[in-house]
Amino acid sequence: MYNFNFHSPSSLDEAINIYNNSDDPKFLAGGMTLLASMKQRLIAPSDLIDIRNIKNLSEVIIDGESIKIGALYSHHSLSINEDINSKIKNLAKLANGIGDPAVRKMGTIGGSIANSDPAADWPAAILALNSNINTNIRSIKNIDFFTGMFETLLADDEIITSIDIKIPDLFDYKKFPNPASRYAIVGVAIAKYNNDVTVAVSGASHTPFIAKGLSEFLSENFSSDIPKNTVSKDDLNEDIHASAEYRANLIDVLTQQILKNN
Ligand SMILES: Cc1cc2nc3c(=O)[nH]c(=O)nc-3n(C[C@H](O)[C@H](O)[C@H](O)COP(=O)(O)OP(=O)(O)OC[C@H]3O[C@@H](n4cnc5c(N)ncnc54)[C@H](O)[C@@H]3O)c2cc1C
Repeated sequence: MYNFNFHSPSSLDEAINIYNNSDDPKFLAGGMTLLASMKQRLIAPSDLIDIRNIKNLSEVIIDGESIKIGALYSHHSLSINEDINSKIKNLAKLANGIGDPAVRKMGTIGGSIANSDPAADWPAAILALNSNINTNIRSIKNIDFFTGMFETLLADDEIITSIDIKIPDLFDYKKFPNPASRYAIVGVAIAKYNNDVTVAVSGASHTPFIAKGLSEFLSENFSSDIPKNTVSKDDLNEDIHASAEYRANLIDVLTQQILKNN
């Protein structure tokens, strides 16, 4: 670890002010990714701005049609929140499949989305669900948010405050996990609003993406009898864990498994 300055602001304005007056600052949420990167000396921020004392960032508000989840809400809290899970079935299952108990207790939904790891679980869910990412300055539509590998539309000094999710008729997520980290080798999220179906994929490419052909097919014909190779292997990752062809096949298989279970 390198030396760094530690700040614990109690408001968004204070956090942004500290950010803008520091050399190379980083916002700290659960620290599950950030602190690990610092310990491995991959990054060396001059200032850590812990946002966990800022009020209202862990709130959950449920109304008739949507759920607002505070950015600091942990994977564990989400996995045991019965109100959320009675409205969006299978969101708890996703949260409970992340990493290990320590990661789930500390890691946050906002941190996961801000980090935009291509193999993380929340990005696929957020892309599939009709949702908006709210920050201290604006609301960003889900489809605009993930711009690349570990990249998002967020400005450096922008803080995610909450995520608004419209309650779907159906949601499910299934992943083929890396047996060590539990990150997705491929993860598939499906959300359905009336006949409108969106299939989003994580783990398979450099960034989470919406499988457009598959989404269109299922919007017309919601059945597990889907065509093969709906996503071309040409755009998919190839590494020691799985070939591009294997990942393409996993997208079809996980989609079929979700459809058969729902
Ligand atoms: C061993 C291990 C296994 C894991 N397995 C999985 C897995 O199976 N699936 C999965 O999806 N994830 C997995 N993760 C990642 C985990 O979900 C992390 O919790 C998540 O990536 C980051 O959340 P955090 O709250 O810890 O963020 P931090 O580590 O605190 O921050 C991560 C990044 O996001 C930024 N950030 C954090 N919060 C905000 C905010 N509100 N606004 C703006 N920027 C913000 C930080 O500045 C930093 O750049 C794993 C992590 C570990 C260590």
